[in-house]
Amino acid sequence: MTPDAEFGYELLVCRYAELSWHPSEGPRPALVARQLGTRERRWDTVVIEVDPAAFERRRAFGERTIDSDLLHVVRGAPPEWTWYRDALPDPGYPWRYVRQAVHRAAGRDLIEKRRDGNRIQIRRVRPYPDWVERIVAVENKPDLDRSAADRLAEQLGHDIETGLADEAWLATETTGERVEPALLRELPVEAGILATDFSAGVDADAVDVAWHPSDLAPGSGERRDAETETLRLEIAERAYGKGWRSFHDTMRPDCRHFELRREGRALVPYCAAKEKVPTARECSGSCKEFSPEPPQWRTKGWPIEGGPGKGLTALLERRRERERDRIAPAGDD
Ligand code: SF4
Repeated sequence: MTPDAEFGYELLVCRYAELSWHPSEGPRPALVARQLGTRERRWDTVVIEVDPAAFERRRAFGERTIDSDLLHVVRGAPPEWTWYRDALPDPGYPWRYVRQAVHRAAGRDLIEKRRDGNRIQIRRVRPYPDWVERIVAVENKPDLDRSAADRLAEQLGHDIETGLADEAWLATETTGERVEPALLRELPVEAGILATDFSAGVDADAVDVAWHPSDLAPGSGERRDAETETLRLEIAERAYGKGWRSFHDTMRPDCRHFELRREGRALVPYCAAKEKVPTARECSGSCKEFSPEPPQWRTKGWPIEGGPGKGLTALLERRRERERDRIAPAGDD
């Protein structure tokens, strides 16, 4: 199976995680995103388990990702007006880049800034909360074969070494059959295994825990160094801003063949011309079968402003918002 063909499966796993996290420990508030990680390691599905009250305080900073440069400023901004070079930790790169990030952060109302002579002072608007509890990586291998198992063992070995994730799972499609025991023996014992059967759509019953995971870095709360903590926060921030429905950013919902189809409780993209779930790579600007929405779809009678493409994009964005709302504690603040 080519990596591209795993795309549809990945979306179903993401939706499952959103509906039913945690697979063996009972409900936990969590955000789900896909295709995130570091330069060395990209995870298929990423689940960020959050502290709901702190998550609500994070939402006060807005709906967009706070990227690594901005995080440096936002986390370090003091309660009282201070010259930014006194307030922030040494960045390890030229201060002029920090100054740019200060302007960007102030432009997004993440901090306040003012000028004192020729010095720029900053002050926080509110403290940046400690909202990330655990980070869980899920690798999606609908067809688990020997080479996929070998690759996975290597990747999970890397995860254990770096301590970036707290837990790792493999999700594999079984359609009623057991996962091949010989392949399971190839995998690191620390990784949990989700046996999925999405033939009847996505819900909690579609997934069995075939193997329970263990903590990748037990007691890691104290042991992680500041650099790893920052890296984890950067991943969590990207997950927050991106979610897993952002496929509409790179795909072509403005193509007349693009549809969203229901698979149980999940909505996945569908190409009516190719009669399948298109991969993100093929459903792009270079697709030979791309055909723009006729202009009259946009103007006459279509119930959503801007035509079906814009409507689908808005729908996916609303869903992401709804999931964020669901995490917030009831009646808080
Ligand atoms: S025809 Fe191409 S661009 Fe249009 S929905 Fe299908 S894959 Fe996407």
